[in-house]
Amino acid sequence: MSDDVRNLIIIGSGPSGYTAAIYAARANLNPLVFEGSVTAGGALMNTTDVENFPGYPDGIMGPELMDKLRAQAERFGAELVADDVTSVELTGDIKTVRLDDGTTHRAKAVVLAMGSGYRKLGLDGEDRLSGHGVSWCATCDGFFFREQNIVVVGGGDSALEEANFLTRFASKVTLVHRRDELRGSKIMQDRTLANDKIEIAWNSEVAEIIGEDKLEALTLRDTVTGETRRLDATGLFIAIGHDPRSELLTGQVDLDDEGYVLVKPGSTATNVPGVFAAGDLVDHTYRQAITAAGTGCSAALDAERYLADQD
Ligand code: FAD
Repeated sequence: MSDDVRNLIIIGSGPSGYTAAIYAARANLNPLVFEGSVTAGGALMNTTDVENFPGYPDGIMGPELMDKLRAQAERFGAELVADDVTSVELTGDIKTVRLDDGTTHRAKAVVLAMGSGYRKLGLDGEDRLSGHGVSWCATCDGFFFREQNIVVVGGGDSALEEANFLTRFASKVTLVHRRDELRGSKIMQDRTLANDKIEIAWNSEVAEIIGEDKLEALTLRDTVTGETRRLDATGLFIAIGHDPRSELLTGQVDLDDEGYVLVKPGSTATNVPGVFAAGDLVDHTYRQAITAAGTGCSAALDAERYLADQD
């Protein structure tokens, strides 16, 4: 066990974790950041152009943006460690986090910023073509698909919202849904069914993603007959849900039914004093780099005030 009791440990290295680190480091809190061993830098490490992060009028590649946030945190003295936190003990005045090599680290306050994972179809080519036709975020990427044929997979409210939103850009949107009725709210169903640009492939699932360097087409399989057919498309939006990375936190902080961390309204404070949460780990709604960065900032400021009150 490290003998030091740090002011602040930050778990997570996406826009929320690095922004919390920038603010905490500039407030002289000397934060220790656990970035994760595989996906340090967070979700934007898996994408290409990011055109909606303010301050980059010509856009920026996702990994480059994350390198810049990381460098900014380091410049002010944040200590960054590319390891996974495997367990936490968050109650009491001193919090403990444990890494996969068994070492433990202690701090007076913790910011949780582990993000959430987009559910995947589990098909070959899905990861390879991420940012090259395959996307999990219409708000982020819809603009790249003007006058193109787009496919949206899913049947819940998110999928219906994405399909409707994408008709602003696409020449046609095909909504691929496994059943013969939609699951979303009545109002979203009505809006979808009334939209001339949306065609619904009922009782269908994506069986194959076709394309080497960019998406060219999909193979759809009929879930009733098993028959397959080719559908040409240059965009595939997968909208089958997200899983917050909150496994560590079960029994430690209050989570909602879907596993997102609950915070007090207008704050990043969890139900445990000294523990704050930010980014997609908390956010059902916006899930953007800038909103994650914004709540990361709030978490660092909340932690700073908490620590000041302890002194
Ligand atoms: P994340 O970015 O998910 O980062 C969390 C990170 O924490 C993890 O990746 C991992 O490194 C680390 N971590 C997790 N668990 C542990 C642990 N136990 N120990 C240590 N570290 C851990 N948003 C936009 O605004 N514009 C876009 O153009 C855009 N494009 C996108 C494209 C893709 C393909 C994807 C997947 C998302 C995109 N988004 C975009 C959404 C955006 O990436 C997310 O909203 C944002 O990254 C969330 O930030 P976060 O800090 O909450 O979490």
